[in-house]
Amino acid sequence: MPAPYFGMFVAGERRPAHSGRSFAVHNPHDGALVAEVAEGDAADIDMAVYAAEQAAPAWAAMPGAERGDRMHRAAEILAKQMPELVDLEIAQIGRPRREMAAQLARLPEWFRYFGAVARTHEDAVPPFGGNFLDYTRRVPLGVVGHITPWNHPLLILTKKVAPSLAAGNAMVVKPSELAPITPLLLGDVLREAGVPDGVYNVVPGFGPTAGAALAAHPRIRKIDVTGGTPTGKAIGALAGGNLTRFSAELGGKAAVIVFPDVAIERAVAAALFASFIATGQTCIQGARLLVHRSIHDDVVRELVRRTNALRVGDPRDERTQVGPLVSARQRAIVERYVEIGLGEGATLAAGGRRPEGAGFDRGCYFLPTVFTNATPSMRIAQEEIFGPVVCVMPFEGEDEAIRIANGTQYGLAASVWTHDLARAHRVAHALECGVTWINDHHRIDPASPWGGFKMSGIGRENGLVAYEAYTQIRNVIVNLDDATFDWYADDGAGLRYS
Ligand code: NAD
Repeated sequence: MPAPYFGMFVAGERRPAHSGRSFAVHNPHDGALVAEVAEGDAADIDMAVYAAEQAAPAWAAMPGAERGDRMHRAAEILAKQMPELVDLEIAQIGRPRREMAAQLARLPEWFRYFGAVARTHEDAVPPFGGNFLDYTRRVPLGVVGHITPWNHPLLILTKKVAPSLAAGNAMVVKPSELAPITPLLLGDVLREAGVPDGVYNVVPGFGPTAGAALAAHPRIRKIDVTGGTPTGKAIGALAGGNLTRFSAELGGKAAVIVFPDVAIERAVAAALFASFIATGQTCIQGARLLVHRSIHDDVVRELVRRTNALRVGDPRDERTQVGPLVSARQRAIVERYVEIGLGEGATLAAGGRRPEGAGFDRGCYFLPTVFTNATPSMRIAQEEIFGPVVCVMPFEGEDEAIRIANGTQYGLAASVWTHDLARAHRVAHALECGVTWINDHHRIDPASPWGGFKMSGIGRENGLVAYEAYTQIRNVIVNLDDATFDWYADDGAGLRYS
């Protein structure tokens, strides 16, 4: 059976790219062709922006409550389509079924939360001096652009689409070239839910062509990217040329900080989850495990034992705990970093190689990997690897833990593990990062702001702050006095008090 073909999604229709070109999406488990997808470029982006511009005014004019109702409908439809979407996400990116089923089951929450915001958001009446009424109204930006990565294809897209819709914007999406299928299918869900054609458009394609054309488009009012830090910088530079609003969720090198009052089993379970979920391919991956020296050796022993016992395999299998990396390219990057770590003098305590056996022959597999005897300045402890590699480092006291945790260019997330209440908050406040979990890791909610300090990004997803970032303020100042004010009358200037 030939692989399915997916066109772009523009103005509610599936269309081929104007060039007629397409690209292949391969399954990282076995290299099989999953689909051929239309390859959009600058001309297609321009057409999609035009379609969005045609649709934007009516969507913006619709009462927020009505937009909210349609978003609630989208949540219901999405929930029904979960099994198909889960299968497709597994086929595109190779993440295990248990992960994708758990992650996608939460997507409707974003449409419900932001649908509720659309219905309930209240504007302000600032205390303007004198006999005036001042009120503000948050109005949509117009057409916005979303550039998304492959590691959580639908979740990250939804984090951008839901607040954009709630605020009344139309949008053009450039999904990752590795995972464009589910973003295209979201178009069908939104259409069925009553989102007008042209409000949500998807142009699959590559970063330097379609992505750059979207970022540089002069009629896009905001560009929101999730991707690597170099990508964020490149897109920010393009957006700056047009004074386009810009927000970016970028790379990370999260620290998991374990104080000695935490049970070894709990610390190890935390580290495994933080380091190896998504085969380590998350922006908040616990890439650096900082353990108090007094329990360091016990934690390492148990971490190595549990890492070696993880079930690596076919992501379609419900029992699989660790799937392949997304691509041969990503695996080559991880292999290179393992060589770098060894060259730097770190000790390979688990993994560090491809798994052996017939089931792994054609896939992009790599074993979960633990480095010990790593030091904070090593490249493996500084640079984002984006794979299943954790560096374990001991610390003596709280100050040292904070210093190591803060000692990278990144500042996305960290977790602090301790039962000492004062210490937990003290450390959380000292960490230079946008998200800190205390006794947890990688917990997310549509209401809870998400984003990075330093080179991990600009702006925040989730919460009211995300909704507001998809609006602009219209300020209306009303003179409540009917008397004529005449500045140029002889006594006019004296009548004006501001
Ligand atoms: P990537 O930077 O390679 O690509 C991200 C998106 O940007 C893709 O759609 C790509 O086509 C596009 N792109 C690439 N170059 C471009 C350019 N010059 N102009 C316009 N668009 C361009 O990232 P990826 O490999 O898809 O995802 C992994 C990265 O994303 C990691 O660095 C990870 O930390 C980061 N990430 C961050 C978060 C967060 O919330 N902060 C979440 C997930 C992933």
